[in-house]
Amino acid sequence: MVFVSTRGDADIVTSAYAINRGLANDGGLFVPTEFPQLSLEEIASLKKMSYQERAVYILKQFLTDYTEEELRDCVNKAYTEEKFGKNPVPLVQVNNNTGVLELWHGPTSAFKDMALQLLPHLLLAAKKKTGELHKIVILVATSGDTGKAALEGFADVPGTEIMVFYPSEGVSDIQKRQMTTQPGENVKVFGIEGNFDDAQRGVKEIFSNKILAKSLAEKGFVFSSANSINWGRLAPQIVYYFSAYVDAVAAKKIKLGEEINFVVPTGNFGDILAGYYAKQMGLPVQRLLCASNSNNILTDFINTGIYDKRREFYKTVSPSMDILVSSNLERLLYHVSEGDATKVAGYMEKLNTEGIYEVEREALRKIRSEFFGAWVDEFETKETIGRVYRENNYVLDTHTAVAWRALEKYRYLPEDPDTYTVVLSTASPFKFANNVLSAIKGEETTAENPFDLLRELSAETGMAIPSRMGALEEAAILHKDVVDSKKMELTVIGNLG
Ligand SMILES: *Cc1c(COP(=O)(O)O)cnc(C)c1O
Repeated sequence: MVFVSTRGDADIVTSAYAINRGLANDGGLFVPTEFPQLSLEEIASLKKMSYQERAVYILKQFLTDYTEEELRDCVNKAYTEEKFGKNPVPLVQVNNNTGVLELWHGPTSAFKDMALQLLPHLLLAAKKKTGELHKIVILVATSGDTGKAALEGFADVPGTEIMVFYPSEGVSDIQKRQMTTQPGENVKVFGIEGNFDDAQRGVKEIFSNKILAKSLAEKGFVFSSANSINWGRLAPQIVYYFSAYVDAVAAKKIKLGEEINFVVPTGNFGDILAGYYAKQMGLPVQRLLCASNSNNILTDFINTGIYDKRREFYKTVSPSMDILVSSNLERLLYHVSEGDATKVAGYMEKLNTEGIYEVEREALRKIRSEFFGAWVDEFETKETIGRVYRENNYVLDTHTAVAWRALEKYRYLPEDPDTYTVVLSTASPFKFANNVLSAIKGEETTAENPFDLLRELSAETGMAIPSRMGALEEAAILHKDVVDSKKMELTVIGNLG
């Protein structure tokens, strides 16, 4: 299995190289040149396996330059019982035809842990394979959850440095506290004056600055990425689509071979793209439902084929989805354009210079046959949390609520109102306790201290506060710097000695 750039760079690379580098030389994203195929029998064979075994089975389809022993070693170090509990990814049946896949039982209480606990191990193995001797500098732009999950994964990993940039006014209290208290010798955390797109643009610019790369290489450093532009972030996410499917079969919600839907609360398009890969590999999926908040650029795109970022940016109660430039869409464009990298490079160029592009009719037809897009406003998000709690006694976080409501909109369509659907739940409700609590109680919360809110949400719902989150209350704040989003490059240089 080999990987190429979405923008046509001539390099053809192994997965270890793709994981090591993060981004292709021409600024494109690495994509597999083919989709490994799994038969129904092979899919069925996953049913009896543990999550860790399922992960090895799926990963080895794509990471063919790793040995099975290496993959098993990486997976076992990542998904430990200590960090993820007995069942890392439970599928909870909330009503007759809806299951919620809880992806937030890892150390930072967000789904990013599924990939970011594994990525450092994959990267260290890749470093050995590719003979990379430089210290790897992980640069992260985060809308809130990636930052902490990456910090937790990379802190004190030998041969790496990690620097995280988050919008200083654009994350929840708990998210900020999680990042600013992060210990570790190799860790730097910065707030930026700006939003996530500013942070992401800054990181991409640093990545594509060849002169900077050269001068840092002389000092012994090389950049890599822990954002979902890195193939090593995407591959681990494919696993849980298969895992959810066989768990639904085991729970007798569906028969083997029956098509189901997945609804995914979407920001950078990484999570849902992993579902697209699972489908291309043979998983019986009818539709992938792409749920957005008021930053509904993807809904518009799926409906019209026009991607237009020249619009207002909203700060919402689901901040991890407050994104206007969804990086991983580039990979989908590549696949639906039959690998026409010139076309993809053209779209990205137009996005950069004009802020808008339109895909061809055939590409749009393909996208619409696989995806459905819907968006959910702030009022609906909170209404959904309250209603699902009252009717199903299940507590949704704000992001998962967006997905739940988008599914309801899909089910209003006459096409398939009853198909069994898995809702990907991307964060623990405690991570967004303020909005979840006010939605459940139907009134604004009064507590000022974020940890009082955790206690109140726990008392109200009977759910236990995730232990690592509770412990943040006593943790010292170690990172206080806030920098101008235009000075990120200087900040990076200044901190690499
Ligand atoms: C990152 C994140 C998302 C969006 O996932 P993408 O892969 O960026 O589309 C949704 N919900 C939560 C809680 C997240 O942390």
